[in-house]
Amino acid sequence: MKSQPYIPTKGPGNSRREFIKKGTAGLVTTVAAPSIISCANNNESGKEKLGMALMGLGYYSTEVLAPSIQLCKNTYLAGIVTGTPSKAEAWQVKYNLKKENIYNYDNFDKIADNDNIDIVYVVLPNGLHKDFTIRAANAGKHVICEKPMAVSARECREMINACKDNNVQLSIGYRMHFEPNTQEIMRLAKEKDFGDIRQISSGAGFNMTFFDTWRSKKELYGGSMMDMGVYPLQAARYSTGEEPVSVSAQTFKIRPDLIEADEITSFQLQFPSGTMANCETGFHANFNYLKVYCEKGWYELDPFSAYNGIKGEKSKGEFGFKQVNQQARQMDEVAWCIKNKKPMRVPGEEGLKDIIIVEKIWESIANGGKTVMI
Ligand code: NAD
Repeated sequence: MKSQPYIPTKGPGNSRREFIKKGTAGLVTTVAAPSIISCANNNESGKEKLGMALMGLGYYSTEVLAPSIQLCKNTYLAGIVTGTPSKAEAWQVKYNLKKENIYNYDNFDKIADNDNIDIVYVVLPNGLHKDFTIRAANAGKHVICEKPMAVSARECREMINACKDNNVQLSIGYRMHFEPNTQEIMRLAKEKDFGDIRQISSGAGFNMTFFDTWRSKKELYGGSMMDMGVYPLQAARYSTGEEPVSVSAQTFKIRPDLIEADEITSFQLQFPSGTMANCETGFHANFNYLKVYCEKGWYELDPFSAYNGIKGEKSKGEFGFKQVNQQARQMDEVAWCIKNKKPMRVPGEEGLKDIIIVEKIWESIANGGKTVMI
């Protein structure tokens, strides 16, 4: 493994804080935010910066999104939604939040009357994404929903429809779409500098050492596939620029007493052009890679979905793109698109495409790894 992938689970011996101490993830707050889009152009909303409320103040909001939003030009942290009063107090002081912009899960719907909040960013366990995205949309707020979008294609469609009905925009938190090396992978899929793409290998996993979390359980749809597996799934799709036609999948457990949801999952996709993708995910080891083998060469990102340190190499030289704060770019662009009534780079439909495939992965596993048409 060339560099450390991100480790999202908190807890003794495996905390985000400990990982930061180890040296790579701290860059989230120190890398200069790129200004991909200036807020000065063609702004129809009248506000220079849109107000964002983070919903769910767990690891990702606390350690990553809140520091990153400080670097944004088109949005700022205006409010929070939390069920923990002590967090509400601490965040109010730390981020100088107005009291009227602080909500809990019971009074959240009153956010409809608050013009300070334009965007709600849903950063809750996976099983809660649908309900809170729909509640935010019904309150007339634009929504960013974390990955995986929801737990079924039906839920994803309900979320898309709720946002359409309320005339608000929806984006999914797939930050890699805002990262330059990843954007080069997407360009290569279109322009095929190395000829036909024949084989993709991608994996993302981390060694879970803290188990008392929704992530290891079924109830709120934890498990490695939903948590980390969507990264190689995304990678297979954006590395080909195609949608798979079939999938076969297998799941394995090495610590069944500690991890109730799927611990290790592998899946193989076939694309219309014939390209194959071998993908793997798990809570059993730290790995994070994407390799694309073509007719006339190869290229890879290692790591490919960490917060920073994304490094690209081709059979002819390096990618050579600068490091960026992915989350700042993501939130800034989403806010710019809302202000300027432009479509999202990562709309709800993109999250839905993954979940349709995830449902077929479950179907294959239930049928002993049989190939399932998508
Ligand atoms: P976390 O467990 O650290 O935080 C979850 C938060 O939700 C906590 O503040 C918790 O109090 C709150 N919550 C509200 N209702 C809850 C309930 N019924 N049960 C449990 N918690 C409840 O999780 P996290 O790592 O912050 O992940 C949150 C979401 O963000 C997940 O969907 C995850 O996939 C996503 N995420 C995305 C990235 C990324 O790189 N895009 C990284 C980490 C997490």
